[in-house]
Amino acid sequence: MMEAAERRVRHAIFCEGVVQGIGFRPFVHRLAVELELSGWVSNSPRGLEIEAEGAPGNLDEFLRRIREDHPAGATVNRVAMRAIEPRNESGFAIVESSDAGDRRPTLPADLAMCAACLAEIRDPQSRRHRYPFTTCAGCGPRYSVVADLPYDRPRTTMRRFAMCPDCAREYHDPGDRRFHAETIACPACGPHLSLIDAAGNALAQDDSALRRAADAVRGSRIVALKGVGGFQLIADALSGAAVARLRERKHRPDKPFAVMFPSIEAIHAHCALSAEARRALESGAAPIVLLQKSDCDIRRKIADGVAPRNPMLGAMLPYTPLHALLLEAVGGPVVCTSGNLSEEPICAETDEAIARLGSIADVFLTHDRPVARPLDDSVVRIGARGPQTIRRARGYTPVSIEIGADGSPVLALGGHMKSTIALGLGREAILSQHIGDLDSAPARAAFQRAIDDLTSFFRCAPELLACDLHPDYASTIVAEQLSKRLGVPLVRVQHHHAHVAACMAEHALVGPVLGFAWDGTGCGTDGTIWGGEALAVRGAAFERVATLRPFALAGGERAVREPRRAALAVLLGAGVDPRPLLRRWFEDADLKQIAKMIDARINAPLTSSMGRLFDAVAALCGLRGAATFDGQAAMELEHALDCDAESAGEYPIALAGDAPVVGDWTPLIEALLEDLRRGAAIAHISARFHNALAAFIVKVAARVGLERIVLSGGCFQNEYLLNRAAALLERDGFRVYFPRIVPSNDGGIALGQVLVARHAAMEADHVSGSSG
Ligand code: ZN
Ligand code: ZN
Ligand code: FE
Repeated sequence: MMEAAERRVRHAIFCEGVVQGIGFRPFVHRLAVELELSGWVSNSPRGLEIEAEGAPGNLDEFLRRIREDHPAGATVNRVAMRAIEPRNESGFAIVESSDAGDRRPTLPADLAMCAACLAEIRDPQSRRHRYPFTTCAGCGPRYSVVADLPYDRPRTTMRRFAMCPDCAREYHDPGDRRFHAETIACPACGPHLSLIDAAGNALAQDDSALRRAADAVRGSRIVALKGVGGFQLIADALSGAAVARLRERKHRPDKPFAVMFPSIEAIHAHCALSAEARRALESGAAPIVLLQKSDCDIRRKIADGVAPRNPMLGAMLPYTPLHALLLEAVGGPVVCTSGNLSEEPICAETDEAIARLGSIADVFLTHDRPVARPLDDSVVRIGARGPQTIRRARGYTPVSIEIGADGSPVLALGGHMKSTIALGLGREAILSQHIGDLDSAPARAAFQRAIDDLTSFFRCAPELLACDLHPDYASTIVAEQLSKRLGVPLVRVQHHHAHVAACMAEHALVGPVLGFAWDGTGCGTDGTIWGGEALAVRGAAFERVATLRPFALAGGERAVREPRRAALAVLLGAGVDPRPLLRRWFEDADLKQIAKMIDARINAPLTSSMGRLFDAVAALCGLRGAATFDGQAAMELEHALDCDAESAGEYPIALAGDAPVVGDWTPLIEALLEDLRRGAAIAHISARFHNALAAFIVKVAARVGLERIVLSGGCFQNEYLLNRAAALLERDGFRVYFPRIVPSNDGGIALGQVLVARHAAMEADHVSGSSG
């Protein structure tokens, strides 16, 4: 009996996954103490290493609970163990991290403030009462403060704040919520707030800075707030004047703003809130969630200018103590939008914010905790088929994605709009945070910084580069330079191929699949602009099996901002006199001149873009002749739908030719014009247009006969189109995939490029192997 009780075993245990920075080591420590095990735990660059020794039954229990009871926010992908010689030591220690070996993503994304920390900042007895930088082992900034791995305080931007004795005691006490909380801080030792004006003059400190910032918001002024991943612009969401001022200064006339509400109840008072939407809002990622505005009669109404003519509202909850305290002091919802000029990257540090936002913000509420890398708020939509990511940044980056293809390190530089980059490391890929459109100098600088940051953070020396086929994208030019400098081959991936591959990567699909890649524009292999493509994809190869009949876009880029030009192009293409139909959008002379450009094909490139077909229909319906942001016309056409859309019937699209099949929209336009002449409702016309596209997808899928269908590209952010197409496809026995955790828009391109480059490398290896 005695002998059995005294028998000790020792295991070396290795946990792989997202196991650092969520209180995993303290959790392991508590568990070991409870189960009377001795040994140690340490972060390693690839995960967590543990040696544990004790009674065999207790060790089994230890392993079970590591797998099953681990802290929220952690992902344990693999637990490996082997028996080693017992040492008969006593006590269980958290030992310093080792810093050797290759890098795998083990770090969680930034985590929203937890309930315990919120209670603490509201408790007048707590030494962290009203302290805006309160965090614990289970919550707080992570990726936005980490300079290097493994995740330990000396490698975070908190290293400049030496812990006070009270914080040090908590940090070293295994029974404390802040045991090994790397971002631990308090008013005595941590970061501080200050309020400054646009000239950089200090106006107030700490709590008085916060209260004065809240006063400014209530006075309809605009406050630039340094949050987790950089600056946000804050304005009173109930004040039409404040919102109008923000729009004017930010040069953003229509694009919806997100609103931060003080509580989930406040969101519920303004928006329809499903259980799933609530889960997303309250998750550790705390994204902006797009919700249907509700009609309920509320006295304190969100200003119309927040999301003009839009049935949806982007809502979020305070995700740091700083936001919670500010919202409490303001006493109502605030517009909370990225601190930038339209489509530029977010500002991270105070000097930069003053330089770039000085003409937008009246005051700056800032602090002295540096931002390791800028991170925008993420945006998620909850569709009938679950959550879909629209912008992926804070709260999600750098969580890795299993892509189902192994190989040497790949760096992919993505597209041009909504730019992101991606690293392929083994079977995993890391998609960078949203960087922005690469048109401006600050955006290109941020892009370069993101490349340096991501590769050095993961200690990745890429052996292969990938970029878009478009020769003029800023990302392509950087890729070419990098390829020369590093002496590493460059794979150029066709834009729509990358859209399909992004979805394949997310779902670890190898192929073959039939992918519908529908978006605004992307460079095709034939030199024309593609955007309404169906591609049969297998590995690194694709075949264009269907497309749209092309039309000529006069003025190239200008046509993107002027849906009326797309309308003119399809009318001319359909052989219809455009003058009576487009009178509201064109002066006669303008129309004549642009029509001439189209006829003579002068500065009027051909496109098969589905996004532009949406534009054309929106303009014909009288919804929009000129757009102020990407996808605006298409969005308004979707919003024109009503609940009877499914039974509205559909316009005809003719299928012509073979390899590729060409979808001719001429009969569609003719039927649509007939509806307009009859005075049909726009809701009805929009429905028949959407239904026509879904029916087109099903017809092409039936012809091609591949079972797995991918729906990717910006057009599939259209909730109705996605659901309708998916439902019809599934009815006919197809399996439908669409991007969920990766954006369907160009923000996902980089991930697709990683997968295509990886397959290209494998196929090249195979060829050289079999020929040699
Ligand atoms: Zn906490
Ligand atoms: Zn302290
Ligand atoms: Fe695209």
